[in-house]
Amino acid sequence: MSGLLDRIQASLVGLNMPRALKTLRDIVQRLERSEIGALEAIDAPLAEELDVRENRRVGVALKTAKLTPPKTLESFDFSFQPSLDKNRILALAQLDFIDRAEVVHLLGPPGTGKSHLAAALGIAAVKARKSVYRITLAELVEALNKARREDRLADKIRFHTRTSLLIVDEIGYLPIDSAGANLFFQLVNARHEKGAMILTSNRGFAEWGEMFGDTVVATALLDRLPHHAVVIRIEGASYRLRDHADLVPEHVRANAPIAPPPPPGRRGRPPRKRTART
Ligand code: ADP
Ligand code: MG
Repeated sequence: MSGLLDRIQASLVGLNMPRALKTLRDIVQRLERSEIGALEAIDAPLAEELDVRENRRVGVALKTAKLTPPKTLESFDFSFQPSLDKNRILALAQLDFIDRAEVVHLLGPPGTGKSHLAAALGIAAVKARKSVYRITLAELVEALNKARREDRLADKIRFHTRTSLLIVDEIGYLPIDSAGANLFFQLVNARHEKGAMILTSNRGFAEWGEMFGDTVVATALLDRLPHHAVVIRIEGASYRLRDHADLVPEHVRANAPIAPPPPPGRRGRPPRKRTART
C-alpha cells in the first residue's frame, strides 16, 4: 500500500502537480475513514490542481493584457449609475461581441466607470481564454509612431490585430495630431470585422473630427467603427466624486450629458505626456 502511495507521489512530482501532491495524504486518510469514495478521491486533487493552474493562467494573462489591478463586474456598483442598463453589460459579458468582431463604444463623462467596465469585460474575456490587450489611445499612438520611425509599423499593427479583443481607453483625453489619427485609422482598418474592440471616450462622435485633429481621418474612422457597433452611453455622476456630492454642481450630479468640447488646447485633464510626433 505504501509502495503504491510512493508511486502516486512520484507520478504527481513527475507530472508537476504540487497542489495535488500536497492534498494527497489528507485525501488518502479521508478515503480510509470512508468519508469519501474512490471517485471523489480521484476528483479532489485533480480539481484542486486545475484550480491552481487556472488561477495562475488568468493571473499571467491579466498582466499580459495590461488588465491589472483587476476591475471586475462584481465590484461595479450598477445602482450608482441608473442610466446604465446592467443587463446590456451582462449580455456583453457573454462575449458574443468578440466572436462577431464588433466594436463596443463606452461613452460618458469622466469618472462614470467606462475604463472599469471595459477592463471588467476584458477580464471576462481572459477567463474565457480570449486574448486581450488594453492600452490608452495616447500610448497606442505613441507605440505606433515609434514603430513607424523604426520601420516596423507593419509588425506592430500585426501584433495589435492578433488579439481577439483590443481595448482602447481614454479616447479624447489628449489631442491626437493628424499623423497619429492616421496611424490609429490604419490599425482600426486592419482589425475591421476581424477582431473586436472596446473603445472608451468622454467625447461624443460629433467631436471626433476636432479630437483627431483631422476631419478626413475622423470621418473615415467613424465610417469603419459604427459598423457592427454597440454604443453604450453612461450619463451620470462621477464615482470618484461620490463622497463629495456637495462639491459637484447640480447639473453635473445627475443625467449630465457628455461634456461639450472645451476650448482648443485646454482639454480634460492636464496632459501628462505629449504624444510623440515625427
Ligand atoms: P472613467 O473611465 O469613466 O473616467 P473609471 O472607470 O476610471 O471612470 O472610474 C473611476 C474610478 O471609480 C475607478 O477606480 C473605478 O473602479 C471606480 N468606479 C467608477 N464607477 C464605479 C461603480 N459604478 N462602481 C464601483 N466603482 C466604480
Ligand atoms: Mg477612463
